[in-house]
Amino acid sequence: MSLHFSCTMCGRCCHDLRLPLAVDEALAWIARGGDVQLFCDAIVWPQEPPERDALAQHRRHRSFAAYSGVLPVRVTVTLVAAFAGPCPHLRADMACGAYDQRPRVCRIYPAEINPFVPLDPAVKACPSDAWSGAHPLLMHAGQLVDADTAALIAQSREADRRDRVAKAYLCMLLGYDTAALANEGFAVYAPQRMRLQAALQAAQHASAHVDDAEPSSPHPWHVITNRSTTLATLRSIGATANPAAEAPQSAHTPAYLGFFADDTANGDRRESPDAPGTDQL
Ligand code: SF4
Ligand code: SF4
Repeated sequence: MSLHFSCTMCGRCCHDLRLPLAVDEALAWIARGGDVQLFCDAIVWPQEPPERDALAQHRRHRSFAAYSGVLPVRVTVTLVAAFAGPCPHLRADMACGAYDQRPRVCRIYPAEINPFVPLDPAVKACPSDAWSGAHPLLMHAGQLVDADTAALIAQSREADRRDRVAKAYLCMLLGYDTAALANEGFAVYAPQRMRLQAALQAAQHASAHVDDAEPSSPHPWHVITNRSTTLATLRSIGATANPAAEAPQSAHTPAYLGFFADDTANGDRRESPDAPGTDQL
């Protein structure tokens, strides 16, 4: 199947978002007055997967090694600019007010960064006339034809790989150590803007002087969940796991963005605000 596409400048894709950002993009976003959060999840990683396991390798290249209790895990930290309503950079004429500095994910849309997510126009914000057969070819037989978009996706994946070192440093500098279980949700940590900016700058600087292709976290991690079966399983295999709503309150306590209903006690204390847009994470 072929997909043709041309942006109509409708501006729909610039509303109600959680934009994933590379480290340099997060610093630029903060410098323009925006806020950035950390979306953290962890996957149990008892042994290295084979090279042919493309899905596991994809996650591996976006994460760093860590321990939760005695359990080996890999932690993925996604830097996210979240907003309800229009993007702070969206102009009244629906053009981007930061066009030359807009994040890579904005340049790639509506194509998918994740190689395991097929591009489906039905789930995109673009109007039907953006997909007219009269427009330039975007995809053919499941492959991106547009060379510029393909290059941007390759850059995005390379940034994910490169930023793993800085993100491990970042969490150490922030004293942050909590993740949701992968595919169940995210622990969402929102440091104060200036504190995050200083930590990001320090982490970026430190990582530039480290030749470490396989970063690992120097401190133990907590896993939070809002599912009682997950909690029991994690504890039974040696993880440090807590109900999302019952973790000790501190300056580092994250919100929990769960994909499932809460079946743990007192489960309504720290749900994060509901907003769409996690599909790009
Ligand atoms: S940065 Fe620009 S392109 Fe990206 S969401 Fe905001 S207005 Fe849209
Ligand atoms: S929703 Fe699609 S057509 Fe509309 S501005 Fe965004 S990319 Fe362009």
